[in-house]
Amino acid sequence: MFQRQLFVTALFSGLLALLLLGCGGRSNPAAMTDGNLLLRLQANGHARVGVKLDTPPFGFPLAGQPAGFDIDVINDVLSRLRINRITYVPVTSANRMDKLLSGEVDMLIASMTITRARDRQVDFSIPYFEDGQGLLVAADSSIQGPADLAGRKVGATRGSTSILNLRQVAPRAELVEYANFNALTKGLIEGEVEAISTDTTILIGLARSMPGGTQSWRLAGNPFSTEPYGIAVPKNQSDLRSAINNALMEMWEDGDFQMLYDTWFGPHTPFAGLVNFGITPYPR
Ligand code: GLU
Repeated sequence: MFQRQLFVTALFSGLLALLLLGCGGRSNPAAMTDGNLLLRLQANGHARVGVKLDTPPFGFPLAGQPAGFDIDVINDVLSRLRINRITYVPVTSANRMDKLLSGEVDMLIASMTITRARDRQVDFSIPYFEDGQGLLVAADSSIQGPADLAGRKVGATRGSTSILNLRQVAPRAELVEYANFNALTKGLIEGEVEAISTDTTILIGLARSMPGGTQSWRLAGNPFSTEPYGIAVPKNQSDLRSAINNALMEMWEDGDFQMLYDTWFGPHTPFAGLVNFGITPYPR
């Protein structure tokens, strides 16, 4: 009896010691965030953000640094979340989803359309921009819109909504998939394809860096899709997603968002009149 009691007491104190040890091991603040990504990022003051470097005007290199509308938006959002150190991780349309799913990045701001299919794998913020898909062709091309693509080669980037939309609007076009936007523009310049297709603002952004610029390349037809852009975060991180949404709505209310928007898309930019976007903040 006594022995058994002794054994139970020993077992109990052993368990207690283990429990205390366990708590002692959690002195690192980042470790106390229990899978809550927002708390972890705030404890570290650091986030790894997947951004584009081939997608002007959203993400491209400028003097060796990532620049663009996406970069400005995420800097403002994260500073409101008191996350002041950002590592930009270059992503492409083709690999951005995998980089978020594998945990290589904490979030994506990468000209990424919110779709219901993507939403099954990751979560999205409220839209921070909206564009529509278009076609870019040589200025002297006979292509006037998607209806003229039948039997002709048209390029788009792998992993983009552009491929899916093209299959709908131009089912008889011959689709050529490219790994990224640099390869896509090269395909058009070298005559591998007669048209390339993605969101209209990106097409103008790309055309400006192609030989001859917007004198030599033009949009063909009207936008033929709706592309609401969202910041993607891992699934079930509702604190992070809400904090990002609130930051975007605050930016709209205090004028920061409009200022960034006008810098990139306002009347004095090459994108004037192409897009018209505003955030609708939720009621307080
Ligand atoms: N917004 C479209 C998408 O998310 C096209 C641009 C891109 O691929 O980044 O697929």
